[in-house]
Amino acid sequence: MARNFRTLDDMGEVTGKRVLVREDLNVPMADGAVTDDTRLRAAVQTVAELADKGAKVIVLAHFGRPKGQRNPEMSLALVTRPFEAVLGRPVRFIDDQDAAGVIATMAEGEVGILENTRFDAGEEKNAPETVDRLAALGDLYVNDAFSAAHRAHASTEGLAHKLPAFAGRQMEAELDALDKALGNPEHPVAAVVGGAKVSTKLDVLKHLVAQVDHLIIGGGMANTFLAARGVNVGKSLCEHDLTGTAEEILDAADKANCTVHLPYDVVVAKEFRANPPVRTVNVHEVAEDEMILDVGPAATEALADVLKTCRTLVWNGPLGAFETPPFDTATISLARTAAALTKEGSLVSVAGGGDTVAALNQAGVAGDFSFVSTAGGAFLEWMEGKALPGVAALQR
Ligand code: ADP
Ligand code: MG
Repeated sequence: MARNFRTLDDMGEVTGKRVLVREDLNVPMADGAVTDDTRLRAAVQTVAELADKGAKVIVLAHFGRPKGQRNPEMSLALVTRPFEAVLGRPVRFIDDQDAAGVIATMAEGEVGILENTRFDAGEEKNAPETVDRLAALGDLYVNDAFSAAHRAHASTEGLAHKLPAFAGRQMEAELDALDKALGNPEHPVAAVVGGAKVSTKLDVLKHLVAQVDHLIIGGGMANTFLAARGVNVGKSLCEHDLTGTAEEILDAADKANCTVHLPYDVVVAKEFRANPPVRTVNVHEVAEDEMILDVGPAATEALADVLKTCRTLVWNGPLGAFETPPFDTATISLARTAAALTKEGSLVSVAGGGDTVAALNQAGVAGDFSFVSTAGGAFLEWMEGKALPGVAALQR
């Protein structure tokens, strides 16, 4: 594949070189222990590969929101031992008071973590002094933190202009997957956009109508679109002030030859709690005191048929209130269809979003999608078609 960014394969000889590697080590902690080490595990490949090649690996990362102040509770010293355990080799903590001195003593193949980049107020401002201070610590720069790439900070963007810059393995995998899903996808392309509110995903919807062949709208936001089409959605979550915007999106889709799929049957309840009495009804039969909480079985089956005709799927947002049974039914069913089609080789499936990842895990199919992004905000901005500064800075 022709890429417009350089990877570890393009770095040349790194033995003895000081390589600054931006990772996402912003792990959740409770009582001094890491409660989810996904991000630590994701950083291993790039760090280990560079260390194996004899580089002096200096990991840069932020931890929490110290807002430019030193804060011992947000010191990356707390993450050094957990990362060492996951990496399976010694990791040195590099205090930023004498970073240059410590780095000068590092051996080839040694790994260190520099103190929280956000202790310096210049990090989030991308201040030239901060960029220069960091650049002086390394010979080469690797950005492996896609999840931080929507921010133009010194360690995520500024450094790429000062040192020869490369994408790490994690960044490379994410960019390749996203390119296959929306940059340069095989058509027909389907997008599932669900979740609670239209207002949080307006830019996503506006961007997607021009990119995809099928736009599947589910979740609470489908109610706003149904209301725009004159459906009485009862007590459902619905942004009535956005029905005009919903109409504009439907018009734009029409012009772009994008077929919009709204549910035609829905699961409704009078109370929002686990396992209440429910009815499955046509969207025109929702009563005044009922809420739409999931896509119905007939619509779900029709959506599965749509996916069967597609080559590419990009998914953000659950189809129903999946945390509360039985309103996870449509999401789980369509996720399983997508996973099966991916396994058969007929579909490239890429999904992202905090609740979407949770829903795919609940369905037990996260591992069967082509790629599941845990990048959160960066993933959404990419879905909005925005250029991510940390990615743009890597482009040759
Ligand atoms: P993501 O984190 O994947 O981007 P969102 O945060 O946009 O997804 O949306 C997820 C939320 O949407 C979930 O909490 C889910 O319960 C809610 N939701 C989905 N469908 C409905 C619905 N019909 N009514 C109310 N809430 C819904
Ligand atoms: Mg969410």
